[in-house]
Amino acid sequence: MVGVRTDPFDVTLADLRVHRGSRHVLRRGELTEALVADVDARVPAGAQAVADVELDAFGGGVSVHGTVSSPWEGECRRCLSSIDGELVAEVREVFRRGGSEEEGTYSMGDEHLNLREMVLDALFAALPLLPLCREDCAGICPRCGADRNQGDCGCEEVVIDPRWSGLEILRGEVVSSQRPCAGEGTGQEP
Ligand SMILES: [Zn+2]
Ligand SMILES: [Zn+2]
Repeated sequence: MVGVRTDPFDVTLADLRVHRGSRHVLRRGELTEALVADVDARVPAGAQAVADVELDAFGGGVSVHGTVSSPWEGECRRCLSSIDGELVAEVREVFRRGGSEEEGTYSMGDEHLNLREMVLDALFAALPLLPLCREDCAGICPRCGADRNQGDCGCEEVVIDPRWSGLEILRGEVVSSQRPCAGEGTGQEP
């Protein structure tokens, strides 16, 4: 139908029947809504998602396997800098007429199968739980807030130098001995 905007993730099954058995499908489509994980990682709205899959027709439905990919963006959990990259998720799913989430399958029509829900599920599951700008990100200094990836901020390490640890203990003893004895009363009974 000319003029009707078709969903790129929609696959016509009549075509699959013609080719019998297996068929490669490569579809590229825009996500209308952002996918947001509970951490600072998301597939932004408008991102182009790609489904590069093999469809195999069998008696009860169609099995789909291959990869799903899209760009993602977020913030590093240690230094809060912006990061982006590409998500690539492997998929191996089954579509059936009357398929359901409880059954662990996706539903499909008699003539069509839509990959979009599977694409969204796979991308959401692939979003990183601990987004990092790089594996060894040094993070932000807890004392001054400087980005330690930019160099040493000059703050002292929290780890106590063993040469000074004796002094720290001594200082602790001095403080505790100066503390007033809160547990003892004033000597005046009510
Ligand atoms: Zn970082
Ligand atoms: Zn610092």
